Amino acid sequence: MPSEAVFPSQFRKDMGKLQQAYLERLKGHLTDFRRLRELAAQKMIPRRDLQHVYRLSHQLAGSGATFGFPEISASARDLHTALKEYLDAPEDGAPSNAPILDRLQAFERAALDAIGRRPQEASDQLVLPAGKSLQLDKGANDVYIVAAERDGAAARKLAEGLNQFGYGSFLVNDLEAFAHAYKQQYLKAVIIYSALAEADLKHVQAVIRTNPQIPVIIVSPHGDFEARLEAVRLGAQGYFTGAPETLSFVEKIEAMSAKYAASPDYRVLIIDDDEMLAQFYSHSLERAGMKTAVINNPKDALNVILENDVDLVLMDYQMPGCDGRELAAVIRQHDKYLRLPIVFISSQDDVEKLLINSGLGIDDFLVKPFSPPQLISVVQNRAQRAAELSALMVRDSFTGLLNHARFNELLGQEVMRTKRTSAPAAYAIIDIDHFKDINDTYGHQAGDAVLKNLTRMLQQHLRRTDVIGRCGGEEFGVLLPGCTLAQAQQIVENLRKKVTEAFFDVPGHKLRVTFSAGVAGIDGRKAADAVIKRADEALYRAKETGRNQVLAAEEQL
Ligand code: GH3
Ligand code: MG
Ligand code: MG
Repeated sequence: MPSEAVFPSQFRKDMGKLQQAYLERLKGHLTDFRRLRELAAQKMIPRRDLQHVYRLSHQLAGSGATFGFPEISASARDLHTALKEYLDAPEDGAPSNAPILDRLQAFERAALDAIGRRPQEASDQLVLPAGKSLQLDKGANDVYIVAAERDGAAARKLAEGLNQFGYGSFLVNDLEAFAHAYKQQYLKAVIIYSALAEADLKHVQAVIRTNPQIPVIIVSPHGDFEARLEAVRLGAQGYFTGAPETLSFVEKIEAMSAKYAASPDYRVLIIDDDEMLAQFYSHSLERAGMKTAVINNPKDALNVILENDVDLVLMDYQMPGCDGRELAAVIRQHDKYLRLPIVFISSQDDVEKLLINSGLGIDDFLVKPFSPPQLISVVQNRAQRAAELSALMVRDSFTGLLNHARFNELLGQEVMRTKRTSAPAAYAIIDIDHFKDINDTYGHQAGDAVLKNLTRMLQQHLRRTDVIGRCGGEEFGVLLPGCTLAQAQQIVENLRKKVTEAFFDVPGHKLRVTFSAGVAGIDGRKAADAVIKRADEALYRAKETGRNQVLAAEEQL
């Protein structure tokens, strides 16, 4: 991969600037180290100077490698140990100055060395882990299918099926063209029929490695472990054997891209009294696609958390005024934040304390010094785990749509928003017609497949800003922000037509399905309960007067 793509010049410049600033600060500290060395040489070290350099060496041991200077970390750590032994010795013991002198000299050499040369190690340290560097285009909707001639028929059928679900799908057997298109475009997914020649598979693998963020699914005739392992090595996250339904592909593609798309948006609050370090963390995480806010005073933390949707808190353990443990406890006093992930940055000295006090609600800790890839990996994994857990709580596990409770919560928020802004919005309730008959005639499994098919059609045809919830067995709620009642009715009507035209692919059958819907406006004058009741009444009328239609609640004067 061209390094420019991983490491755009702006980023390099920012990181370079921070490194430069770090070295400037180091130059200032060197005066203090020299002074201590001169005093030590004369065997008269005031305790205050000793403690000052003791603290400095601790700080430098923790930060050097993070900024790309591991030798500063190492020599500062040695010095710190020597100073600790000296300070811990009994007052009347008159310990030797020799180790301190030695290590002060070694540290100064390392520091001057770093100041005198452009940081080489830095670039190695700052390269991001593969696949975390490119932003995924969430609007991407194309799926490439790679297949040799013998799978041509199955691949063509799949391409058609995916089109029905609203994807742009392309069957490619010209691998050069595939490589070219792959580089140019952000794709939703790639599906590969594994019966390709060995050399072709190698070629495909080389291509998909250029952007590991795009989900890859392998379709293979073999289900054994060896074959699956092979697929993993090829870079695939999905694996199917035999001739799966189109819907299985759709579900896998959506699940995989949701996972990838979710990570870049994490909002991370960074709390560190060292401004420069905090900026460095911020740059590293932003470069990996996250959003960050930086706070240098722990007292400001709670307000920022209360007023913003923070996904993860990254905080220094040792801060003046209030340590990380206390701040975590303050945050956890709010029930709302019991699950907010907190990652501590700690020095080697504090690790034991952190391990012993594991009941503090600390999710993870990073021990200084650490490199940006380590930082990114810990933060991203923690944020992702937390997001997955909270998704489990607000989503219906069968369709992946918002569950009834969460949907109603958002409806309530929308009602309040319209009250405040007087922007229009609408709510629709959609109910499948004679769904019981589908179950009775074709079996419960067929009914399930219809629900999943319809879910996908709703997601595909409604706008990205619309909110969809599963509000009952075969009932779906839709929230349409920014729509008047008439506009919302039109949108749901268009959807209704699409659904009546589509075949629903359920195992063994192709079915026709219709739904009825009731739509009500949200204007801030009616409470959420009243909005739901009015839409229900309209739905009831739609059912009573023939089904397969979308009716609006009567306007109230
Ligand atoms: P109407 O046109 O009046 O809405 O008729 P209907 O048959 O769709 O409505 P009714 O409310 O009488 O029946 C809904 C059926 O939906 C009954 C229930 O067994 C079925 N159902 C609810 N949840 C699920 C599910 O998750 N899977 C399947 N297969 N069926 C479900
Ligand atoms: Mg019903
Ligand atoms: Mg029904």
